[in-house]
Amino acid sequence: MNALAATSRNFRQAARLLGLDSKLEKSLLIPFREIKVECTIPKDDGTLASFIGFRVQHDNARGPMKGGIRYHPEVDLDEVNALAQLMTWKTAVAAVPYGGAKGGIGCSPGELSRSELERLTRVFTQKIHDLIGTHTDVPAPDMGTNSQTMAWILDEYSKFHGHSPAVVTGKPIDLGGSLGRDAATGRGVMYATEALLAEHGKSISGSTFVIQGFGNVGSWAAQLIHEKGGKVIALGDVTGSIRNKNGLDIPALMKHRNDGGSLKDFHDAEVMDSSELLVHECDVLIPCALGGVLNRENAPDVKAKFIIEAANHPTDPEADEILAKKGVTVLPDIYANSGGVIVSYFEWVQNIQGFMWDEEKVNMELHKYMNSSFQHIKAMCKSQDCNLRMGAFSLGVNRVARATLLRGWEA
Ligand code: GLU
Repeated sequence: MNALAATSRNFRQAARLLGLDSKLEKSLLIPFREIKVECTIPKDDGTLASFIGFRVQHDNARGPMKGGIRYHPEVDLDEVNALAQLMTWKTAVAAVPYGGAKGGIGCSPGELSRSELERLTRVFTQKIHDLIGTHTDVPAPDMGTNSQTMAWILDEYSKFHGHSPAVVTGKPIDLGGSLGRDAATGRGVMYATEALLAEHGKSISGSTFVIQGFGNVGSWAAQLIHEKGGKVIALGDVTGSIRNKNGLDIPALMKHRNDGGSLKDFHDAEVMDSSELLVHECDVLIPCALGGVLNRENAPDVKAKFIIEAANHPTDPEADEILAKKGVTVLPDIYANSGGVIVSYFEWVQNIQGFMWDEEKVNMELHKYMNSSFQHIKAMCKSQDCNLRMGAFSLGVNRVARATLLRGWEA
């Protein structure tokens, strides 16, 4: 099932649980605005290259729209729509005063030089600058983008609107970024895992983990779980997968990777088939890469007892049903990976206040937000007698529905 169909299906199920009026349901589902732009840049060799960029602004009932910008060859309007919708429910679950949006450019960032990426980012910003803003729509990094991308957006946007640090989050610290933002999604994943395991009388220390993805989210999640005494026994990224049944030495692996090494030539591990990763024996499986990786083909073979969705929509609804029957507990994306947007909110607040928090405060506040949303989701699961995904969706959808009704529709 494609990402948009899957996300909309979860939304509709939550809307039914909540007994939402069908007209309200329809209005919550349809995006506020879809932007599609053509971005042509001269390549370093003088030839021209054209790319398509998107920004979907899904909903703004609870505040300015918020969400990342993804550079990836699979980016298309449907996918960006699904991710924008997920952001609306995610910001509501996290109780940060934002709506939801997402953007992206269909490109292979690894095949573009730094100056080509800069030109592409600047052209994209020129095309959307009058539709984003500190109090309308605030982009952030996502897959294939980073703090440097945000610096270029900020610089280009400021040429039109004057210096506006809060127009993007996930910026470099020197340009008003927040301490702790880089690690925030991975740290949030760690806090979410801790909260879920504690509910089941378990802890990170003493549990075994398999992590798919070793980018920003996966590598921070692996490091923080390792620091808490968790054993990461297998790990994979696009280049391959490795395992060590005694637990991978994550700090050594980080050093190896930062020195330019790839997973496969890490000395202290055995290379394994990547198709085995998601069905590997472990207590906790954490997909941190693309969507739709757990589907009806591999879900029956999953051996983990817990799945933490650090990626957006990694579990297809068909896989969800299979996993539920097997008794696997799935912690949904709109809660599990909300640490990034929560610290984005802290960054935005610091920019508006013109005041910088220390990292301890950022991490402490993130912990509070993650724990509080977990308790609210649990309460929803209890009152609606549903699983964690429906508990999280109902919580988010209900908050957006209430804000929408309070605002009203009078022209
Ligand atoms: N791209 C991240 C996400 O999917 C962060 C979004 C943000 O900070 O606005 O949640």
